[in-house]
Amino acid sequence: MEIKRGIPVSPGVAIGPAFVVETEGTRIPHRTIKKSQIDQEIERLRKALREAVADAHANRDAISEKLGKQYGAIFAAHALLIEDAELVGEIERLIAQQNYGAEYAVSRTMRRHAKALEALNQPLFSTRASDLFDIEKSILSHLVGEQGGDPLQNLQEPIILLAHDLTPSQTANLNPRMVYAFATEAGGKASHTAIMAGVLEIPAVVGLGRTLMDVSGGDEVIVDGNRGVVILNPDEETRERYLVLQRQFGNFAKRLDELRELPAETKDGVRAVLLGNIEFPQESGHCTDRGGDGIGLYRTEFLYLNKTRDPNESEQYEAYMAVLRAIGPDKPVVIRTMDLGADKLFNQADIYLDEKNPCLGMRSVRLCLRNLVLFKTQLRAILRASPHGNLRVMFPMISTLMELRQCKMILGDVKEELEEERIDFNRKIPIGTMIEVPSAALMAEEMAKEVNFLSIGTNDLIQYTLAADRTNEHVASLYTAGDPSILRLIDHIIRAATKHGAEVCVCGEMSGDPIYTILLLGLGLRQLSMTPQNIPEIKKIIRSITVEEAKTVAQEALRFETARDVNNYLREQTRRVLPEVVVN
Ligand code: PEP
Ligand code: MG
Repeated sequence: MEIKRGIPVSPGVAIGPAFVVETEGTRIPHRTIKKSQIDQEIERLRKALREAVADAHANRDAISEKLGKQYGAIFAAHALLIEDAELVGEIERLIAQQNYGAEYAVSRTMRRHAKALEALNQPLFSTRASDLFDIEKSILSHLVGEQGGDPLQNLQEPIILLAHDLTPSQTANLNPRMVYAFATEAGGKASHTAIMAGVLEIPAVVGLGRTLMDVSGGDEVIVDGNRGVVILNPDEETRERYLVLQRQFGNFAKRLDELRELPAETKDGVRAVLLGNIEFPQESGHCTDRGGDGIGLYRTEFLYLNKTRDPNESEQYEAYMAVLRAIGPDKPVVIRTMDLGADKLFNQADIYLDEKNPCLGMRSVRLCLRNLVLFKTQLRAILRASPHGNLRVMFPMISTLMELRQCKMILGDVKEELEEERIDFNRKIPIGTMIEVPSAALMAEEMAKEVNFLSIGTNDLIQYTLAADRTNEHVASLYTAGDPSILRLIDHIIRAATKHGAEVCVCGEMSGDPIYTILLLGLGLRQLSMTPQNIPEIKKIIRSITVEEAKTVAQEALRFETARDVNNYLREQTRRVLPEVVVN
């Protein structure tokens, strides 16, 4: 049994067989075969070995010519290893005696040897271990390639997905009925991959560090998305313990369900508004099912992902109308204009720029202001949908007042165009800006004067304030909403909004994290937008305190000088109010 610790990003506990996705996309399916298929399977293996040897020879020749014979020799050695009688014998025995599929047999054998070499902890042997991984990859590419298709889309049984990293679009395509949970070596708390896990309600842990080399396809794995723990090959006692935890988590979730129809109201009668964050129109149902008061953030850029062309005006209009139909005419729906860029830029080859630092580059509203056709098309679709519900428009990644004013001006132009075309729209559509860049946070008063509402995007605000990449597990300890700098910025933004009569909401992951609920309420926040899955738990906390208590907690939290002290204090306060809540 091995225990790995990472960052919990989507709650729940799952137990199942591992399915490993390598960085380059080679998969190791776990498959056993019938006795009658053994000969055929061994033949399939031998064919893949021959092809892998041919690849190694081709690499040897190409590299020798390019870099010199001494480098080509590495691949000559690969070819020899692939043909090594002992190694091949070991793989074939796993197929013949254990009835493993060829891929699984190759993966198990190679990893066993690679691990043994790595355990020697000497640079020379570590290099040999990497060679074995390379060889494994090459053989598997022939075996998997031969069967064709994307194995993740053709899963025959439920699995626990383990990967170095997943892109948000890969995650979005996972089938929650087949993928019980996932865990990745890379990634941070507010990466879009993590957010997608919450959306799909798949328990997930990210930022595990090196893990994949310790696991073969089919090994039993436990993912504890509440505590950020992944257990490989659990012993019987641990397994039993987790089966109990899994049941308890299910029961707690069921009890929270009973809160659905009750308001998010404090013990002294102050009402908070709990909204849902969505990426796809179909998720609107997740929000209403959890008793959400509307949509506080619709991340429309997900309409652009996995597409070879941009969605046109009517496709966008239809998507917005689908959300409005699901939510109803009265509840607010905040449509955020597209926020492509950084880790959310995929198939958009036409607008992809080779930037050294995409998080600080042409992202989001900056892209829109450079691509007015794209921007205006979206604004037209939003405005056309606006008479059919309580629709609001919001601009992401605003860094300066000038940018905000430009966005408002373009919205004004689009309104005029619609007016001329006699197309109906809500002339008073509420306008909001996200506050997720420190410059905007510091200018919150001026920003608040320009708009109807501010929405604090803590995912980016933390990233940009602490200069800590939200997707990078190596800086995960810096990346925390509990940093005193973040508390002070949020306090400042809420005061600025209140002073100028603008509504204010927090829509980053912080709002769905139970340890920050009392703090945010105490700082004066009355609107929170979160992954719908988190709504019942946050509602339960709100219903368990008074505003006076929350204010005292917030004032105390603002006095601490380090994130560790803030988070410890808030954890303690949350447990005091609601002992069942899982706090990390
Ligand atoms: C944020 O940055 O907090 C936010 C809500 O936007 P996104 O996560 O889509 O960047
Ligand atoms: Mg953001």
